Amino acid sequence: MTDKKTDFGEWYNETVEKAQLCDKRYPIKGMNVWTPYGWKLMTQIDAYIRREMVATGHDEVCFPLLIPQTEFNKEKEHIKGFDSEVYWVTKAGNNDLDIPLLLRPTSETAMYPMFSLWIRSHTDLPLKVFQIVNTFRYETKQTRAFMRVREIHFFESHTCHETEEDAQKQVEQDMVIMDNVAKELCLPYSMLVRTEWDKFPGAYYTVGIDTVMPSGRTLQLGSIHHYRTNFSKPYNITYEDDKGEHHYVHQTTYGMSERLLGAVVGVHADDKGLILPPAIAPVQVVIVPIFSKNNRDEIMAACKVVNAALQDTGFRSKVDDRDLRPGNKFFDWEMRGVPLRLELGGRDLESQVVTFARRDTGEKGTLDTNSLAPGVKLLLDTVAQNMLVKATQYQQEFVKEITTTEGMDSVPDGVILKFGWCGDPKCGHAFEDKYDMKILGTPYRKENWTGKCLMCGKEGIKPVYAARTM
Ligand code: ZN
Repeated sequence: MTDKKTDFGEWYNETVEKAQLCDKRYPIKGMNVWTPYGWKLMTQIDAYIRREMVATGHDEVCFPLLIPQTEFNKEKEHIKGFDSEVYWVTKAGNNDLDIPLLLRPTSETAMYPMFSLWIRSHTDLPLKVFQIVNTFRYETKQTRAFMRVREIHFFESHTCHETEEDAQKQVEQDMVIMDNVAKELCLPYSMLVRTEWDKFPGAYYTVGIDTVMPSGRTLQLGSIHHYRTNFSKPYNITYEDDKGEHHYVHQTTYGMSERLLGAVVGVHADDKGLILPPAIAPVQVVIVPIFSKNNRDEIMAACKVVNAALQDTGFRSKVDDRDLRPGNKFFDWEMRGVPLRLELGGRDLESQVVTFARRDTGEKGTLDTNSLAPGVKLLLDTVAQNMLVKATQYQQEFVKEITTTEGMDSVPDGVILKFGWCGDPKCGHAFEDKYDMKILGTPYRKENWTGKCLMCGKEGIKPVYAARTM
């Protein structure tokens, strides 16, 4: 197998394939088949997001996949941003459609005509809905499983508020949700306000959420947008206040996708396969029976008792009773990233213990069978903590702060630059073009930082981060 350090891209492709997360042989490029294990994993992530959304007062909806061209055309910036990525449906049977339909690249233009019907009064606000559906974007760059695909497993929330401040509070709540999701996935991330030319088409501002791959390239995990009234005006989404006056609503959206899974693979896996965060692993604990002569029934029975005890406590555990050698089973579960393996043999049974092996560090030890569930919980918590610490450490190592471009003809791959920028698009574009990097944005949460613009030398501005992206 290709080594993660030498060729990250090739290693990633091989890991996805060997762990059987998806099948890329479907005859449309960039539209992959979710295979059982990959789908189990993705739906674990979805389930967590769903819980977070419901807990923060969002309702789940499901909108049609097709959007009429007439609705899509209402917000001008939005069309410009998505025009080149849209798939069209122009025929129904043998008839040409009067109004062409598009496959949603995202659902603003599907939802907002309906929001304008749903919202009448200030008592209808806030409106907070989300859906987990597939979206379609015609990617022209090289596709990569979960990271860049043409049919995207997508999460999107859309909210409407009375005031800009209320919408701003929603942005802050989305950030807390992001924080919770990232913790579950053991992923460090940054939250940067995107540049004007990189913000979501039609947004007032966009906050991008990025993590860093072991190659030093960044991957956008999600984004949060404040729209102000940019969409409510063209879609005529208004409410009547308590004095009988009409106002446009202020809107936000929050999007994430299967890239979360791509990030989990890219950040955590090693040359033996996946390493899954315990919170989303479809199997958190695998129990492998170790038979010796004539104890097969006894060991199997003991494994089942252990499994039942773990499942009763709420763990996702399973006994691997396949007719294979233990070594083969170990290899399999390591490839699939199961965080904790328990082994149970004759000697363990006698001493009333089980042997454990951690997937993240390979560390082995024993757990007392009488207090198994608390022991397993502690181990899984430790695994999660260690995964986050390890990822945070390597990601920080890529960041390099610079104050001058003197003698800097090019920037090698695997470097994330931090520097001052005056905010002028001219300076921004000049930097991006010269160094073939993307300005990710300025920190959303204020940093104590002073400096000069790297390009023009103007003082007293915010720092920006620039990187190459996956
Ligand atoms: Zn400047």
